[in-house]
Amino acid sequence: MPLIPYGRHQIDRSDIDAVVDVLQSDWLTTGAKIGEFEAALARYTGASQAVAVSSGTAALHCAAYSVGIEPGDEVIVPAITFAATANCVIALGGKPVIVDVEPDTLLIDMGSVETHITSRTRAIIAVDYAGQPCDYTALRALADKHNISLISDACHALGARFEEKSVGQLADATVFSFHPVKHITTGEGGAIVTDDPELASRMRRFRNHGIDADLHQRSNAGTWFYEVVDLGFNYRLTDFQCALGLSQLEKIEQWISRRRNIARQYDRAFGTIDAIQPLAVKKDGRHVYHLYVVQVNRSGSLKSRAELFSALRDKGIGVNVHYIPLNLHPYYQNHLGARNGQCPVAETAYENILSLPIFPAMSDADVDYIVETIAQLMNR
Ligand SMILES: *Cc1c(COP(=O)(O)O)cnc(C)c1O
Repeated sequence: MPLIPYGRHQIDRSDIDAVVDVLQSDWLTTGAKIGEFEAALARYTGASQAVAVSSGTAALHCAAYSVGIEPGDEVIVPAITFAATANCVIALGGKPVIVDVEPDTLLIDMGSVETHITSRTRAIIAVDYAGQPCDYTALRALADKHNISLISDACHALGARFEEKSVGQLADATVFSFHPVKHITTGEGGAIVTDDPELASRMRRFRNHGIDADLHQRSNAGTWFYEVVDLGFNYRLTDFQCALGLSQLEKIEQWISRRRNIARQYDRAFGTIDAIQPLAVKKDGRHVYHLYVVQVNRSGSLKSRAELFSALRDKGIGVNVHYIPLNLHPYYQNHLGARNGQCPVAETAYENILSLPIFPAMSDADVDYIVETIAQLMNR
C-alpha cells in the first residue's frame, strides 16, 4: 500500500517552465532571479528586506551571526524544535539554553524563558511550531526589557499571522525554510527577512564569504579588487532555485487555505474521539498548519501512541513525531549538559504526540480514510 506521507511538495508545469528558463540562460547563480525572489518574499511577509540562502539551516546561521552571537553567549531555544535551531548557536561558540514549552500548544513557555535569562543571554530564538506563531507581544517585551535580540525560526510558518502582523514583521530577524515538506520549496533553500538594513547587509555578506557587496559590484565594473570584510561562507541560493521559489510563492495562499480546510475537517472529527486531542489554537492569529499535531491520551484499554503509530503506518498512513525534545539527544547532553527531566512538559508531550498527514494535494477522501482508521483503532 502506498504511504500517505505527512507532508508533500507540489510541482506544476509553471514551476518546471520557470526552472527550465533559467537553466537555458547565462546566469545559473548570482543572476537576476535572486533579487526578484527576495523582493517577492519581502512583499509577501511585509518585511522591508529579504535575504535568500541555501537552506533554512544556513538562514539560522546567518541570523544568529548577524545579531552578534559570540563565544560564551547564551541563546534561549525551545525544547520542541528541530536540531538546527540550536546548532546555529553552537556553530558560533554560543550556548543554546533549552527551555520548556506550553502543554497545550507546545510553543515556547514565557515563564521558562524569563527564568532562564542571565547576564550572558544575547538572544531568544522562538519557533512557530506546526505553523502557529508564538506570543510575539510577550517575547518582544521581554527581549526589550533585557536588551537582547529576538529571532523567529518560522520554518513552519510562512504566511502565518500573530494579531494583525504577519510572521516576518514580529522579530528582529525571521527565518524560513524551503525544504520540500515546508510551505513552498526550492529543493533546498531558505531565507531571512528583517526590517533592519544593517542586519540584512551583514547577512548578505555572510552568505558570500564576507565580501563587501559594493566593492564586489565595483569589481564587476572592471577591476580585480574585492575585500573580505567579515566572516562568511557560500550560502548562496541558485537562480534556478529562486525561479522555482517565485513560481511556488504565487500559489502559497491557495495552499494555506487548503491546509486550513483539512485542519478544520480533522478538528471536527476529533471533537468526537476523546482519546485524540489536537493541539490548542490561539484566537488572535493565523495558523498555517505546516503540521497537524494531536496528543494521544492513554487511558484504560486505548492504544498507546507507539501502538497507534505502527497501526497507522501498517494502514498506509505516514504519521510522524515532531519532535524528540532537544534535551534528550546525546549531543546536547554530552556537549551542553542537557539532561532528562530538564523540560518535563516537552518530555511528557513527546510521549503522546503524533503528526498526521497534511499537505495541499491531499484529498478529502484521504482525510476521511485517516479519520475513520483512527476512530476504529481507538474505539476498539
Ligand atoms: C526545516 C526546519 C529547519 C531547517 O531547515 P532546512 O531548510 O531543512 O535546513 C530549521 N528549523 C525548523 C523548525 C525546521 O522545521
